[in-house]
Amino acid sequence: MPAASAVPLSWASWLADEKAQRVTQSLWREKQPLDSAQSTRVLLQDQWLHNFCSNDYLGLANDDELKTYAQQALAQHGVGAGSATLVCGHHREHQALQEELADWLGVESVLLFGSGYMANMGVLTALLGKGDAVFQDRLNHASLLDGGLASGARQQRYIHNDCADLARRLVANTARRTLIASDGVFSMDGDIAPVAQLQRLAAQHDALLLLDEAHAFGVIGDAGRGSVSVAGLDSDAVALRIGTLGKAFGGYGAFVAGPKDLIDMIQQLARPAIYTTALPPAWAATMRKSLQLVQGDDWRRQRLTELIKMLRQGLQQQGWSLLPSSTPIQPVLVGSAQRALDLAHALRQRGFLVSAIRPPTVPLGTARLRITLSAGHDPQAVSELLAAMAGMAKHFNHE
Ligand SMILES: *Cc1c(COP(=O)(O)O)cnc(C)c1O
Repeated sequence: MPAASAVPLSWASWLADEKAQRVTQSLWREKQPLDSAQSTRVLLQDQWLHNFCSNDYLGLANDDELKTYAQQALAQHGVGAGSATLVCGHHREHQALQEELADWLGVESVLLFGSGYMANMGVLTALLGKGDAVFQDRLNHASLLDGGLASGARQQRYIHNDCADLARRLVANTARRTLIASDGVFSMDGDIAPVAQLQRLAAQHDALLLLDEAHAFGVIGDAGRGSVSVAGLDSDAVALRIGTLGKAFGGYGAFVAGPKDLIDMIQQLARPAIYTTALPPAWAATMRKSLQLVQGDDWRRQRLTELIKMLRQGLQQQGWSLLPSSTPIQPVLVGSAQRALDLAHALRQRGFLVSAIRPPTVPLGTARLRITLSAGHDPQAVSELLAAMAGMAKHFNHE
C-alpha cells in the first residue's frame, strides 16, 4: 500500500479543480528559465531571442561597470546583511543609499524595502486602518491594491486617470484620514498619471498623495526624477513616492521617499520593513553606483526616446492599434486573448520575446502585446521587430 499523501483529500480535490479550470481558460501560467544573463538578447530553450519584455529600461541589469563594482562591493562587504535593519542589519551602505536617493529626489528622507511589492504593502498598511479611506486608480499595480485591502481602510477604485470621478468620490468622503494612490506610469498601458491634478485634488481634500514610480524613476523627468518632475511640480509637492530598484536601476530592492516625519513613522509601523532581513550591504553599495548611472546617464534616456519614436511610427504605419504612451511601455491592442497569444508565439518563432498580456491582468477585450524598450536595444533590433510585425500585420489585421 502506498504511503498516505501529506496532502489531505479536500486539498487534493481543490488543487485538481482549480488547475483544471485555469488550464481550460488558458490561464495556467508557467515560467521558463533563461540560460543567459538578463539583457536585450536572451537564450531561452536553445534559442537566442531579442528581448522586448523586460523592465530593464536603462540597460543596467547586465552593465559591465556595475558588475565590476558589485564584485568589489561583495569582496568588501560579504554576501548577507545577517539581520533585520532594526536589530543589526543596517549598514553604512544602506544609510548612504537612502541619503543619496533622498538628495536625488529632493526629499527629506528615504526608507529602503526588500521589494516594491513589500514597499506598497508596508506603506499602505502602516498608514491606513479602519475608519480611513483609500482611493486608487483602477489600473494601479496589484501591490498597491493589495496593500489597500490589507490595511482595513475603505478602498475605492476610481476610473483610470479620471480626476472628475475621483473628485466626486472625495466630495462624498467622510473618513478620518484619506490617501490617494496612483501609479506614476501605468505598467500595462504606459501612460502617465495626471500628477498636477491629483496633487491639487489631494490638497483640496486634505488627502495624502502617494505615487508609485516603479516605471517612472530613472525613465522620465529631469535626471530620471519621474512623473513629479514631468508635471513641473516641486520635488516636495507629492507627499510619498515609491520606487523600485528592480526596473530602471537594473537590480533589486525598493524604497519610499518623502518627509522625514512620515518616513520615520513608516519605519515604526511597516511590518514588511521590520520583520525581514535587510538587503545585503554589498547590494546597497551596488545600487548606489546604479543611482549614479541613473542620475547622470542622460544619454540612456535620450536613446530610449529615439527608440520609442521609431517603434511607434513604424507600428502606426502598419495599422496596429497603439495606446497614447510616451514611455518605453508600448502596448499593441489586439482584442482577444487567443490573438495576443498567437501573435506572441509567431514573434517568438521569428526570434522576438514579447509578452502577451491577457485578462484578468487587463480588461476583457483589451488583450495586448506589451512591447518594452531598453536603452540597451540596438536600433537595428527595433527595425527587425518592425519587419516581423509588418509580416504579421498583413495576416492579423485583415482577419
Ligand atoms: C514592478 C512594480 C512593483 C513591484 O516592484 P518590485 O520591486 O518588482 O516588487 C510595484 N509597483 C509597480 C507599479 C510596478 O510596476
